[in-house]
Parts: sequence; structure tokens; C-alpha cells
Amino acid sequence: MLNIVLFGPPGAGKGTQSAKLIEKYGLIHLSTGDIFRANIKGGTELGNLAKSFIDKGQLVPDEVTIGMLAGEVNKNPGAKGFIFDGFPRTQAQAKALDELLASKSTAISMMLALEVEEEELRKRLLLRGKDSGRADDQNPEVIQNRINVYNGETMPVKDFYTAQGKYKGINGIGEIESIFTNLCQAIEA
Ligand code: AMP
Repeated sequence: MLNIVLFGPPGAGKGTQSAKLIEKYGLIHLSTGDIFRANIKGGTELGNLAKSFIDKGQLVPDEVTIGMLAGEVNKNPGAKGFIFDGFPRTQAQAKALDELLASKSTAISMMLALEVEEEELRKRLLLRGKDSGRADDQNPEVIQNRINVYNGETMPVKDFYTAQGKYKGINGIGEIESIFTNLCQAIEA
């Protein structure tokens, strides 16, 4: 299986590049942010709980997020592989993902990290907020909080995969197509 963690701060382009990668490699796309938003739209209990964290730019608690992600992986027993987009965001989530995949006799193949500096992220997120309708993209304080949470809680996940020799950094600034080409080269290297 080809199991990719697509990593990077909010606004790095994970959603855009995931869409292209799943098409090219026939993978299942699991975006925890998208799944939470679908639950919010559907008015589920999980959605209501997630909303209270998402609206503030905080992480949804690990046990909730890990349980949900495991459920989605279990729904796809015949998958050729997965792109994990926006997950894992904490070291506890990374450990849980390793254990889940090991229980299925597979593992993460690599972490591809889109690298974009903060000022560019703030610009991109505010721009996206104009058409995405995402409340968390429209408020500069919530955006800053998400960037701070990324720097504090999510960055250590990079060390987790670096220690396993699986980290590959990719410049996330430039044309969508050239970033995609670089991601494909990293996958096939
Ligand atoms: P995203 O669409 O990936 O930017 O995620 C939007 C929001 O959903 C985040 O700001 C978090 O509040 C929540 N979220 C998404 N993925 C996770 C995760 N792996 N762990 C905790 N919270 C998450």
C-alpha cells in the first residue's frame, strides 16, 4: 500500500494537492477537516462537538479525532492506499495511526510536508475565506490561533516521522502544477 501523510500548516495547499494525488495514484483521501465539516453540516453529535473547537481555531480532542479516523480507515478495507490530509496533528495521533496501520499489516510510506511561510499563509487563508464560506478562514484571530496551534502542537509530528526516516519537505510556494510535479517525484523516488 501507498500511505501518505500530507503535512503542512493551514493554507499550505494540502486539499488542492490531495485532490490531484488521489486521482493520479488511486488513493482514498481522508481529510479530518472535511469529515468534521460534513458532520457539522449534517448536524451530527460529532459535528456539534467538533464545531466548538473548530470555531476557536483549536484542535478537536485526540480521542474523538482518532476514533473518527479509525472508523474511516475501517470503511475502506480494499484500498490501494490512503492520503491522510490534516491528520495526524499531534504526536498521540501519529502513534495511534502507526498502531492502526500495523494492525492491518501496513504502515505510513512517507510524510510529504508542504513548506510555506507564515505571512503567505495568513494571506492565502483570508483569500480562501472569501469564497470557501469557512468561518475559521474569515477571522484573523482564529487564523492566528490555528497557526500558533500548528507551531506548538503539530510541528512535533515532523520529528516523529523524521525519526522513522519518512519525512520529505517540499516547497509549497509556486505554481500548483510544479508543486504537484515535485510531490510526484518525491513519491516515486
Ligand atoms: P483543516 O480543514 O484541516 O484546516 O481543519 C479544520 C479544523 O478541524 C482544524 O482547525 C481543527 O479544529 C479541526 N481538525 C482537523 N483535523 C484535526 C486533527 N487531526 N486533530 C484535531 N483537530 C482537527
